[in-house]
Amino acid sequence: MGRSSKDKRDIYYRLAKEEGWRARSAFKLLQLDEEFGLFKGVKRAVDLCAAPGSWSQVLSRKLRGKDVKIKEMAEEVKIVAVDLQAMAPLPGVTQIQGDITKISTAQEIIRHFEGQPADLVVCDGAPDVTGLHDVDEYIQAQLLLAALNITTHVLKPGGTFVAKIFRGKDVTLLYSQLKIFFSGVTCAKPRSSRNSSIEAFVVCQNYSPPEGYVPNMSNPLLDHSYDVDFNQLEGPNRIIVPFLACGDLSAFDSDRTYPLQLDASEEYHYTPPTQPPIQPPYQQACHLRKNNLLAKEDSPAHLVEAAFSAMEL
Ligand code: SAM
Repeated sequence: MGRSSKDKRDIYYRLAKEEGWRARSAFKLLQLDEEFGLFKGVKRAVDLCAAPGSWSQVLSRKLRGKDVKIKEMAEEVKIVAVDLQAMAPLPGVTQIQGDITKISTAQEIIRHFEGQPADLVVCDGAPDVTGLHDVDEYIQAQLLLAALNITTHVLKPGGTFVAKIFRGKDVTLLYSQLKIFFSGVTCAKPRSSRNSSIEAFVVCQNYSPPEGYVPNMSNPLLDHSYDVDFNQLEGPNRIIVPFLACGDLSAFDSDRTYPLQLDASEEYHYTPPTQPPIQPPYQQACHLRKNNLLAKEDSPAHLVEAAFSAMEL
């Protein structure tokens, strides 16, 4: 590919270079802000999964750059950027090279804000894409939930959370989880996000966790080293569904072995299954075993082939 062919194909890629943004993704955050006014009154902001840093650049320019009229106000602003990867420095942005699924990262953010909560958390996180759509969607969803977890530690009530989401078939499950914590949840697609991509952004407004909710990072799917006893969770952190034993206690116990003749006076008669499987996946193996062809190193290949063709496979 020639040096200019990507410039020709992708206007946002070209504009990003012309305007000095580290990645074309900058336009996605700028366009989300145009629609939702994300930066109004924001003094403390967190950029999760920030490298190479175009969203942090947007935060820096919008919250403390030339767009902010009063210098003292700009100096009050604190921005923290987190990523697994190292990132070149940016004015007014503190970097944490860390993992957003770790409680230690949440603690570091809180330390940087001197115990004050953030007004805005953004996350453009993306795992390495495998090309297997179901796997990619699943991992993206897990990363979004990790971002939500860390956000519950650092965001102020009423604050805003913006995150990349893949609009896959299970996306409504994610929306319903986000709705537990935010009164307003919108799925937005900026013009700069390619139509061909299932990528979109959830803009979650007015952080209002359930009463008594205690932030935690426990996601057993993400990190098995978290030593969480789920039975110890209380209040809104614990969901209890009723467990009901059904049937008469005098009915047969499914874990016990009973004699073949339940009634000793009657002779046992085998009853075949009502409807055996029509074409079970183990059919070939049964056939080969019946013909003594299974797993025999010295089975002549032509016999195995003959067995397969007899079965019209
Ligand atoms: N918003 C960035 C920008 O505008 O420059 C681009 C972000 S890039 C699409 C996704 C980033 O997510 C990668 O840099 C990757 O290292 C980061 N990431 C993925 N999983 C992460 C995790 N568990 N913790 C921290 N960062 C993570």
